[in-house]
Amino acid sequence: KAAPLGSSVIPIVNKLQDIFAQLGSQSSIELPQVAVVGSQSSGKSSVLEALVGRDFLPRGNDICTRRPLVLQLLQTKSKASGGSDDEWGEFLHLPNNRIYDFAEIRREIEAETNRLVGAVADTGVSDKQIRLKIFSPNVLDITLVDLPGITKVPVGDQPTDIEARIRTMILSYIKQPSCLILAVTPANSDLANSDALQIAGNADPDGHRTIGVITKLDIMDRGTDARNLLLGKVVPLRLGYVGVVNRCQEDILLNRSVKEALSAEEKFFRSRPAYHGLTDRLGIPQLAKKLNQILVQHIKVLLPDLKSRISNALVATAKEHQSYGEITESTAGQGALLLNFLSKYCEAYSSLLEGKSEEMSTS
Ligand code: GDP
Ligand code: MG
Repeated sequence: KAAPLGSSVIPIVNKLQDIFAQLGSQSSIELPQVAVVGSQSSGKSSVLEALVGRDFLPRGNDICTRRPLVLQLLQTKSKASGGSDDEWGEFLHLPNNRIYDFAEIRREIEAETNRLVGAVADTGVSDKQIRLKIFSPNVLDITLVDLPGITKVPVGDQPTDIEARIRTMILSYIKQPSCLILAVTPANSDLANSDALQIAGNADPDGHRTIGVITKLDIMDRGTDARNLLLGKVVPLRLGYVGVVNRCQEDILLNRSVKEALSAEEKFFRSRPAYHGLTDRLGIPQLAKKLNQILVQHIKVLLPDLKSRISNALVATAKEHQSYGEITESTAGQGALLLNFLSKYCEAYSSLLEGKSEEMSTS
């Protein structure tokens, strides 16, 4: 199994970003984020969990995701390559606190949601982010955003305009040109009326950054299958669809792990003749691979601008340096050195990417 492309490329960008931050420079790299959209209980949180490979998001039939959860996955070195196999989470609101127990991470997401949303009784949802970093040797470096689901009927003391509020919140993420959209629709609902595709279509009418995800292939009406959906014959989508099978509620109650679920998924697709010949559109690993390829393309597009911002900053710092005379130990001097280094780094990185993309197109 080939290593996913993004796992080698995106850490470099993260590193660049860290250096920018340390320099206090105005420049930064806008890394594309990946957001999941769809109606309530369509399987958004399940898809994110499967991509992360761990069980840690609040899930269920009521409106569980009530604040945007920004999830930054960071790949660490595995034990085999000199690191450790530890996996942990760190919340922005609980700095320097590594949480190794993923059930505790879930409880903290729930508690932090209630801390804010519970207090604002008349909204029910809040656009205030929860930010969580997950460190693991088993993840791809991606920032994922779990968003509240689109709800049609207000429940409990939710305000009547809850749907409009949630839509506005979702759009504020997915209308950003750099945001990749996972539009999640369950296979047992009507794709032509999909909330996910509708809102994604508003934000990304050309479909350049929307991937369709069809969940719940396992609970379709007997005698039906999603082959035509996956082939884009029902609702065409430029970047296409990936069909997945996540854990059902029973699996969750029986504590079936994400890993078990992944092999069950593979077995499911192998046992259904309707899905033969569609392997590049089936399963969570394919979704991860697709995401990575698209991320790399996005980063490539950002590079020329990044290079020019670095060289502008370099010129400005050199001027500042001159005005200080010969004091080479000054911060400005160090800044210039760093920027010089950065721009070389950026060029090297750029040609690296060129190489990668040739590799991609010939594979
Ligand atoms: P969200 O509201 O969109 O985040 O949806 P969740 O991920 O919380 O899932 C809602 C419910 O659907 C949970 O009980 C999941 O176990 C179940 N579910 C999600 N995906 C699938 C799937 O592919 N197959 C089956 N059978 N159940 C699923
Ligand atoms: Mg959810």
